[in-house]
Amino acid sequence: MVGFMSSKSFPGGIHPPGNKKTTESLPIEKCPAPPSVVIPLQQHIGAPSKPIVATGDALRIGDSISESGGFVSVPSHATVSGTVSAIEVRPHPLGVKVLSVVIENDGQEKWRDDIGFDENYRELGKKEMINRIHAAGLAGMGGATFPTHVKLSPPADKKIDTLILNGAECEPYLTSDHRLMLEEPEKIVRGMEILFKILGAKSGAIGIEGNKPDAIKVMRQKIAELGLPFKIHALHVKYPQGAEKQLIKAITNRRVPAGGLPMDIGCVVHNVGTAAAVYDAVACKRPLVERVVTITGAGVKTPKNLLIPIGTPFSHVFNHCGGLTDDAGKIIMGGPMMGLAQSDLAAPVIKGTSGLLVLNEKQSRRKQEQPCISCAHCVDACPMALLPKMLSQFVKHERFASAESYNILDCIECGSCAFVCPANINLVHWIKYGKLKVMQKRKKAN
Ligand code: SF4
Ligand code: SF4
Repeated sequence: MVGFMSSKSFPGGIHPPGNKKTTESLPIEKCPAPPSVVIPLQQHIGAPSKPIVATGDALRIGDSISESGGFVSVPSHATVSGTVSAIEVRPHPLGVKVLSVVIENDGQEKWRDDIGFDENYRELGKKEMINRIHAAGLAGMGGATFPTHVKLSPPADKKIDTLILNGAECEPYLTSDHRLMLEEPEKIVRGMEILFKILGAKSGAIGIEGNKPDAIKVMRQKIAELGLPFKIHALHVKYPQGAEKQLIKAITNRRVPAGGLPMDIGCVVHNVGTAAAVYDAVACKRPLVERVVTITGAGVKTPKNLLIPIGTPFSHVFNHCGGLTDDAGKIIMGGPMMGLAQSDLAAPVIKGTSGLLVLNEKQSRRKQEQPCISCAHCVDACPMALLPKMLSQFVKHERFASAESYNILDCIECGSCAFVCPANINLVHWIKYGKLKVMQKRKKAN
């Protein structure tokens, strides 16, 4: 049977307002390229890439500008045609300055000439497919930015039997994956076919939250049309349904052990956007030079879903959306639950930018923190079965060994605990800090 519906979920979680209506029906538009792009050499988890161009070099779209800095690293590419004007540190969405290649756009939109459809791509061996994925600079596009070729190269003792594509998009406000599933279903399913072949998996499933019935229908039709053995799972609408471990539990009923990885239980999860990029990389040798981003929130004059060249400054994106409103407040890259607050609009769109959310002033005000009333709502909400109140107390009192023994490193920083806390305690802030301290301690010990 090809595709079926079910309503599956995981323990814990919350139901924040979706706020997706504003952009879920808006087709993806192309954002005009800016006068210059700023491409950071660190857009992925792992070692930064190393520049291989010099100031004054002429580039076409798709030309390599950097090479991997190690196995867990990916190269970057020119996203406009033009001339390298600087290689220097520039603002990055992580709030730090990072070595970046700046390219002045000549407006010619000239592409590297070996990019195009390879009609024999399905006959390629696994190694060549992985090489093309690596050469294209792919890193997880759901926001995690883990290098895709590494996820496709598990150690020999980890047998993968299940490939899951993540189309849940459970973060409020974001609709970029939803639109991609509606507008590019074939690329996603063909990309999934490639991933399936590389991993040698036995079953493949796409998880989509039940609040996207149009995407479920379109994806199911495409799978049937292409005659592929993948299933669609309609998931319960609950946050964080799209987190890797929660998605695996909902679809396979398997649990990733504390401190473990999905590959420990035979699973690999990729985002639907990554699957589409895998198709481009393998079938067309096309590097990752642009991505779909949702620009939304009460602080944006004209919200949109945009296809944006990587390296486009946020200020250019907002100008294309009519600018910000007079009462615009906090700016977040990603969604309100797991996104990163931004302070510099010169920072650029990177491979992991799924959304740019602008709240208004009222929404941006932090509520006054009150003493804990021991209601345990944070415990009920935690999808990782942790004790958020206790963890934050350990960290406040610098009892990092106790926090470690209560599995603080298993926290996925989903923000569910802080969302439900009636005392407005910034639990995630303390837990993130505690994780950092525990990781520093482990590094020192090694
Ligand atoms: S403790 Fe971590 S995983 Fe649990 S709800 Fe809070 S942020 Fe999410
Ligand atoms: S939800 Fe907030 S008030 Fe309730 S137990 Fe947890 S930290 Fe305390």
